[in-house]
Amino acid sequence: MKTFCGRANPTTGSMEWLEEGEDYDYHQEIARSRYADMLHDKDRNVKYYQGIRAAVSRVKERGEKAIVLDIGTGTGLLSMMAASAGADFCYAIEVFKPMANAAVKIVEKNGFSDKIKIINKHSTEVTVGPDGDMQCRANILVTELFDTELIGEGALPTYEHAHKYLVQEGCEAVPHRATVYVQLVESKRMWSWKKLFPIRVEAEDGEKILVPPSEMENCPGVPSVCDIQLNQMPSSDFSTLSDVVTMFSVDFSKPVQSASTYYRVQLEPVKSGKAQIVLSWWDIDMDPSGMINCTMAPYWVKPTSALQWRDHWMQCVYFLPREEPVLQGEKLYLTACRDEYSVWYNLQKAREGKNKADEEEHKADVPVESPVCRCRAHLLWNRPRFGELNDQNRTRQYVESLRKVLKTDSVCLCISDGSLLPVLAHYLGAKQVQYFVLFFRSLHFSMFFKANHIEDKIKIIEARPELLKPSHLEDKKISVLVGEPFFTTSLLPWHNLYFWYARTAVSTHLASNVTVLPQSASLHMMIVEFQDLWRIRSPCGSCEGFDVQTMDDMIKDSLNFRESKEAEPHPLWEYPCKSLSDPQEVLTFDFTKTVPQHCLSTEGSVKLLRKGKSHGAVLWMEYHLAADISVSTGLMQLANEQGNCEWNPHCKQAVYFFSSVIESQILSDPTAVTYVINFDTKTGEIAMDFKL
Ligand code: SAH
Repeated sequence: MKTFCGRANPTTGSMEWLEEGEDYDYHQEIARSRYADMLHDKDRNVKYYQGIRAAVSRVKERGEKAIVLDIGTGTGLLSMMAASAGADFCYAIEVFKPMANAAVKIVEKNGFSDKIKIINKHSTEVTVGPDGDMQCRANILVTELFDTELIGEGALPTYEHAHKYLVQEGCEAVPHRATVYVQLVESKRMWSWKKLFPIRVEAEDGEKILVPPSEMENCPGVPSVCDIQLNQMPSSDFSTLSDVVTMFSVDFSKPVQSASTYYRVQLEPVKSGKAQIVLSWWDIDMDPSGMINCTMAPYWVKPTSALQWRDHWMQCVYFLPREEPVLQGEKLYLTACRDEYSVWYNLQKAREGKNKADEEEHKADVPVESPVCRCRAHLLWNRPRFGELNDQNRTRQYVESLRKVLKTDSVCLCISDGSLLPVLAHYLGAKQVQYFVLFFRSLHFSMFFKANHIEDKIKIIEARPELLKPSHLEDKKISVLVGEPFFTTSLLPWHNLYFWYARTAVSTHLASNVTVLPQSASLHMMIVEFQDLWRIRSPCGSCEGFDVQTMDDMIKDSLNFRESKEAEPHPLWEYPCKSLSDPQEVLTFDFTKTVPQHCLSTEGSVKLLRKGKSHGAVLWMEYHLAADISVSTGLMQLANEQGNCEWNPHCKQAVYFFSSVIESQILSDPTAVTYVINFDTKTGEIAMDFKL
């Protein structure tokens, strides 16, 4: 089956119709899937195996046959563990067809075809009975349906259904139970992902403060989970206000209810401070006794030596609806509300003189609604973008650059999604300056201008750049064109080159001596060795003694599905790596000119300077705002002697994984990596090839 998919090209902005076969989606899904990461998760695999062995023994000791239901079998791994542990039969359910097919192959290759039946269905479609998918109900329920938030992948409704229709009462479950833990913290860094702080601008006539609109102040934000590699958050970036508290548990061996509910715990802060954030993670006990425990606890909760790196399960950051000053020792109630798929938190102070009636009152005002953004800013800006706008250093660089280019009679046009540059420019400019903001994806932004009483100073034009008319600009020519550039449609660093295409589209409206800020951009590249991220794209071969090479091949096929391998976006502050080469500027883009007709190509070689494994190349953009002022969306600090790097914490960088890894053995190994990079100005795509 072929389908036509319409999409706006993130770099050129033009609408494209792509003919996609059925294959396209699943290759994307497999190529970017977390299966490899799960198979590399030794701690998880070992503990599942222990838990499964224990469950099979318990059933056998009762003199029963061990009939296993494995929901979401993926590669078939957990069923193969069960079969090896002596299970009599396994029903392995997998909804994703390519995976179910792979599971059939893997199970056969490992010699378990007579013990494991792969059923390509969603578990809620599975039938039980003589003519059904399953002959009888199972007495062991094995699953791995969890995401970082535990329930985000639909574990609760799946368990609820399985207990009703697919397993026996009193069945063994692996895992046996999951427990969610929380800790209350104050963190300016994390709070800056949800709230816009006042922005200070040193103007000629004194300091100006850009205030966020009142609509934003009390907005609960968005319900989507904020999952991060919390182990990369230095302890200096937050302060814990409470002990670690158990929020709720789910016993998977008993009927599970998925309907919305809430859980409440009483807390006493161990320190006074501003309660802003609830950090959360979970653990699973593979057996009823809790002896086989797999935990996502971060480094300050458990010894670093016991940390298993994984990307498929991380930790959650929840934002309280509002900041709450709390005192050491005072009584607080923390409420976790959940629906079938997500969790959100609320904090309340216990009132004086607690009594039964009071307790009831507290219960009554427990919120049940999941957070819905009312101010629309949380829909326009994602969390890293909030962090970026709150970055005072970055603001300072833009302010300084604007100050250099703005004149008293400037006519300024800003092209960027939801940018505060026009407001900064307004504060820096003299009264006569005219500002236009070209917005075509960022409606409802005028609230910023209203909140700062400048709505009549800045005109918002809702038009696509190519449809800009002289009347929009009151027949004026633009003397200063600005952009951050930032566009919500950008996934890879170079997608923000859309600024260049928009600049080209509005060319006829620019004065002959127009100043463009940024004046240019450059693409930079560096070869790195990842501490851990390499695992997500690395073949596994065998997992706990089972041959899973079929899965490796399948991932490899999907990665090679399109002739050219693609770079993928990753926020590298969360994924430590060591630089093996110097950073290198590979392409430059001159925004003072229009986008050229011809392609921009470059080739060359990079010397490997340090000992290590070359896992891939990292690429990022730098913007040259004005003379001597550049901002980097990638490397912030040049690597030190050991090659450690500091990355821009607000941006994702592009990672191009090499298909094979080379190891440079000695310091200053003269080994070089050669590259060819091509920017096709028609399609806006960057193709690259590396030879090791
Ligand atoms: N059990 C494997 C894979 C876990 S990934 C392992 O531990 O390595 C979870 C898998 O469950 C995915 O392949 C997903 O497609 C599948 N899945 C999730 N919910 C399901 C459901 N209700 N019924 C069938 N498959 C499901």
